Amino acid sequence: MDLLIRGARILEYRPARVGGTADIAIEKGLITGVEKTISGEKAKKTIDASGCFVMPGHVCAHNHFYSALARGITAAVPPCYDFVGVLQNLWWRLDRALDRESLFYSGLVGALEAIRCGTTTVIDHSASPSFIKGSLAVLKEGFERCGLRGILCYEVTDRNGDSGRDEGVSENVSFIESGESALLRGAVGAHAPFTLSDETLVLLSEACRGTERGIHVHVSEDRYDLSFSHHTHGISPVERLERFGLLGPKSIIVHGVHLLKKEIALLNEHDSFLVHNPRSNMNNGVGYNTRLAAIKNVAIGTDGIGSDMFEETKIGYFKGRDAASNLAPADLLGFLGSGAQIVSRYFERKAGTIEPGCLADLVLLDYKNPTPLGADNLPGHFVFGFGSHDVRTVVIDGRCVFENGEFPFDTGPIYKEAAAQAEALWKRMEKY
Ligand SMILES: [Zn+2]
Repeated sequence: MDLLIRGARILEYRPARVGGTADIAIEKGLITGVEKTISGEKAKKTIDASGCFVMPGHVCAHNHFYSALARGITAAVPPCYDFVGVLQNLWWRLDRALDRESLFYSGLVGALEAIRCGTTTVIDHSASPSFIKGSLAVLKEGFERCGLRGILCYEVTDRNGDSGRDEGVSENVSFIESGESALLRGAVGAHAPFTLSDETLVLLSEACRGTERGIHVHVSEDRYDLSFSHHTHGISPVERLERFGLLGPKSIIVHGVHLLKKEIALLNEHDSFLVHNPRSNMNNGVGYNTRLAAIKNVAIGTDGIGSDMFEETKIGYFKGRDAASNLAPADLLGFLGSGAQIVSRYFERKAGTIEPGCLADLVLLDYKNPTPLGADNLPGHFVFGFGSHDVRTVVIDGRCVFENGEFPFDTGPIYKEAAAQAEALWKRMEKY
């Protein structure tokens, strides 16, 4: 046995469960036993978790680590009058200025922050048009150095010409074919239907079919995507994706703020995922999807605003209240728990529960409940109580990557170099 976690109370989100204290045995990255007491004689390492809760690690179902060095950006950004302006004046200038080193440090600090917040898998969507080939391997290095699980993809788009598009497609395919590891899987990334021609959708469809992976794409984040699709193609964005065979159980459709009822029906029919990013949607002022409850598979992402899924999920709940939706804390907790299904489909293992055979991605929480805590009120404790400050220890793929609030290496030099990289990146942006 590689690791034994002793005496923590088990918490699960989907369905909500609060169990008694148990010992958890872990071997070769998987949970191999969950019992009231397990003998520790053969354990290579034992963690005494008495007084703690143990829960499956959080999944951030949509992130952009490439944007990690944009925090607090002071580069001159012209006024942005709408969503497309934000892309053109900020993000499409930042991503062009990324090189190998700045992308590496973006991934590294992104991974550190995720783990510190109790997030054990990040589903990332990357863009670095001046450094496409080999970019996913650079991100992978950051994930693996910290021990974070991930599903990576490169954002294919027409905005950088045919060569940029083709290089993007082959970066996705070659990562899936030769870059994957125990911790990393690849998906097929694409920007959004309004920057993808029919010819490009054919290439993406071939890539998905050939690799047996799904597309990871923004859809109807802003109403512009829907209007553009109707105006240019005569159908809605999701209908267009379906026409090109891009909907399936591994498809990760992001935002969907302006999804039509018939588009939701298509997502449900194909068992695809919709990733809701409440803070990003509020920040961009793009609106709110009032039909989330009608979607079969909803997961939660941050869209690049860190990886704190406690914060994202809570704000998702409060935004829903503010928008007069009927979503309860339990619905949001269910969305958060759904992220594990994506992990399960890509890694072909059970995920998101604490039972034998399940991926050993676990978080020990030092949460002191001031009121009784059971399955019936776990969602209430989550929304009004839990926080990433409660994260004590994080185990990913059976390995202890963060213990008692500390990483097993000095993170100081990493943050120092990241800040230097950020400063240089902001300067380079001025050229674009
Ligand atoms: Zn995004």
